[in-house]
Amino acid sequence: MKAILDKIQEYNKIIIIMHMRPDGDCYGSSFGLKQAILDNYGEKEIYVLGEQLENKKHIGITDTITDDMFKDALVFSLDSGTKRRVYDKRFETGDYLIRIDHHVHIEEFGDIDYVDTSCPATSFIIARLMKENNLIFSKKTAECLYTGIVTDTGRFRYRGVNGDTFRMLASLVETGINQQELLEKLYVRELNEIKFEGEFLNLIQREGNVIYAKVPKSLMDKHNITEVQVAEYINLLEDIKGYPIWVLFYEGERNIRCRVRSKTIPVDEIANKYKGGGHKFAAGAIFKTWEETQYIIEDLKRG
Ligand code: AMP
Repeated sequence: MKAILDKIQEYNKIIIIMHMRPDGDCYGSSFGLKQAILDNYGEKEIYVLGEQLENKKHIGITDTITDDMFKDALVFSLDSGTKRRVYDKRFETGDYLIRIDHHVHIEEFGDIDYVDTSCPATSFIIARLMKENNLIFSKKTAECLYTGIVTDTGRFRYRGVNGDTFRMLASLVETGINQQELLEKLYVRELNEIKFEGEFLNLIQREGNVIYAKVPKSLMDKHNITEVQVAEYINLLEDIKGYPIWVLFYEGERNIRCRVRSKTIPVDEIANKYKGGGHKFAAGAIFKTWEETQYIIEDLKRG
């Protein structure tokens, strides 16, 4: 932890990189770290690279930079389990690389590789780094980190949420953030999403203890739903009585993405079999055709 702060102090130019298909934790930790550095270390040149999401504009606006700007820069990869998932492939061309993450440690990378799988969110790790080193939390930093923790814990329902999580939240909330407003921005929905959801519910199928939905691109196009948006529909399949495994397939431009979740049955090895990966209870894979997707369902059924 101390080594990370030393590096922040040492560099004037810092580039923070999100993972592909960014989520709330990815946005929260990236912009939270940026603001924390500005608040505590004065003026530095800081860039955040990643896909700009419409509904996360209140958290931050991403930057575009040229190759030569990586020179002499301290680079952070945040919330990314693998190198492949890092949004900007130039991440290894900077002067020094620090990875901070809370996913299962699949591959090591970075001059400093700080991974803590016991943390419920990467935003929590950033908050802890700050708290343990007596850094100041501004309201803006707290808003970002709060967003990351709320979203990655499914509003405090997932594994890894404990007393430390709530103690940390207390520190963030005490900066005066408006929780109601933040939550409203995160969870407000557009009419086209509700219409899409109506049709999505009709796609739900079940086989054995597996519940799943296969979403064709035509349906996403019909309702103007992006891949980032449809990916979230995995959560709609959770908590359906009698189905400990739930799976979402959705069609992209070039392939079909699969997200698998389970409460009790490990699914990572099955995802590995299809050249995918992930952790015990949350994994994913890519398929070329709809026919191929049926094979993983058969395997998941057998457990
Ligand atoms: P996701 O469904 O994107 O939240 O991913 C859940 C977990 O599975 C994360 O740890 C991902 O890194 C991993 N994962 C998802 N898709 C793939 C894939 N195609 N190959 C390897 N790992 C994946």
